Amino acid sequence: MSLSIAIMEGDGIGPEVMRAAYPVIEAVSERFGIELRLENADAGDRVKSGTGAALPERSLDVIRSSDACLKAPVGQCAAEVIVKLRQMLDLYANIRPAKNLPGVASPFGDVDLVIVRENTEDLYRGMEFEFEGGAIALRLITRKATAKVAEYASKLAAGRNRGKRVTCVHKSNVLRFTDGLFSRTCRETVAKFGDVLYDEMLVDAAAMNLVRNPGAFDVIVTSNLYGDILSDEAAQIAGGLGFAPSGNIGEANAIFEPVHGSAFDIAGHDVANPVALILSSAMMFRHLGMKKAAGEYLLAADAIESAVSALLSKGIRTPDAGGTCSTSQFGSTVAQAIRVAPVAP
Ligand code: ATP
Repeated sequence: MSLSIAIMEGDGIGPEVMRAAYPVIEAVSERFGIELRLENADAGDRVKSGTGAALPERSLDVIRSSDACLKAPVGQCAAEVIVKLRQMLDLYANIRPAKNLPGVASPFGDVDLVIVRENTEDLYRGMEFEFEGGAIALRLITRKATAKVAEYASKLAAGRNRGKRVTCVHKSNVLRFTDGLFSRTCRETVAKFGDVLYDEMLVDAAAMNLVRNPGAFDVIVTSNLYGDILSDEAAQIAGGLGFAPSGNIGEANAIFEPVHGSAFDIAGHDVANPVALILSSAMMFRHLGMKKAAGEYLLAADAIESAVSALLSKGIRTPDAGGTCSTSQFGSTVAQAIRVAPVAP
């Protein structure tokens, strides 16, 4: 079976973390007999300065027609690229796992939660207006988009071994109409999944509880802005931005990317942590494996995750995590570990 993957190298540390991910993807392709067609779908600041468009039509076409897109961070024009793609391709759910990794320092043990963030609405619709002496932003919440994301969160919780619980995070005591609709729709949707438990938390309490007792969470479902903020907090709690992968999921398309930004302060020095992008590629294989019922893609996802964990537990880490390994070395070492890993019985 052959997979077409759109590749966006992005800006800042984007191209170098992508170069570290290439050998990893190549290693699972060889190991599990997955024929991969990687096609350039670049976008971002560099592309804009060359072509005038942050997201050229051609890149959009490549992403639309591919099985999935693997995306590195883009710089200043992130809103013109990823926010636009999420809305244009209706990538309705943003999945952001936060999990302790072996050998990665975190003040908290036993963190294994997933934030499912609504990805197309809320204040991120960009409906902002200025007037003399002020500005207004409009917030959009619909039953349809909320139900889709709540359904995704319910199925995810049902398939995990962590208490099978969905926590809806909102602020309906203040935002009675928008968050009232969001929480009501989540409650009704999750109730259709008999074996999934449900509770609710105000966003300020959720921000506090994430640092107080992150191990108590399983799956969090929330709206776009709260999810954006809480997922950075959760990523830091679990070990840092350099380790946090994510997926933007729609019916027809999906884009996988690290949670971190383009980090221009360290770009070009071969020191950036490529784990978030490498683990995003594992999420991509897992998503495609489930969608296409293809066992070899699931094996590819497992192999990438196991190899990353094995390296980290041996202390092979980039400088942000206290190690001395370079970005490129880390990628080639993960690839080598995949090639020599014993075959599962
Ligand atoms: P944005 O593109 O959203 O403006 P940014 O460039 O500020 O983001 P963040 O993701 O917010 O980057 O990261 C903040 C800082 O954390 C970076 O400036 C960098 O020093 C560090 N950092 C982020 N990602 C990584 C990484 N993958 N490896 C090492 N350090 C990182």
